[in-house]
Amino acid sequence: TGRDTEGPGGTNGTESASETLFERIIAREIPADIVYETDTTLAFRDISPQASTHVLVVPKARHRTVADLAAADPGLLAEVVATAAKVAELEGLHDGYRIVFNTGPDAGQTVFHVHAHVLGGEQLGHFGR
Ligand code: 5GP
Repeated sequence: TGRDTEGPGGTNGTESASETLFERIIAREIPADIVYETDTTLAFRDISPQASTHVLVVPKARHRTVADLAAADPGLLAEVVATAAKVAELEGLHDGYRIVFNTGPDAGQTVFHVHAHVLGGEQLGHFGR
């Protein structure tokens, strides 16, 4: 419908079109180093890379978290993952990569427009605390 809501805080249609930084990047209102784009997704380099390759993949439609996206539009979540895999191919991450969706404050999510971190290009450490 384009006006789905996902409970308190809302997602599409309940907040302004340029609510987060990533809407402004998608709208080309602020610059980003774009790696790959599809009709429904955008991939751009993280401004503060945590690995040799660190790219963020977002759906152009706003959903706050990966859980919200999975519930509202599972096909779009699959497109985000497919874009992440394409980025890995383009970046030459033949020995593997990590996809991370920080979800909520305890995970350190700071931008509430769902984004996949694609990390690789080196041996990654174990994750956790
Ligand atoms: P989170 O902490 O929400 O999982 O991830 C947000 C990410 O956005 C962080 O890794 C942060 O470095 C990145 N970031 C913050 N501001 C900007 C920006 O202006 N441009 C880009 N390309 N990345 C940003």
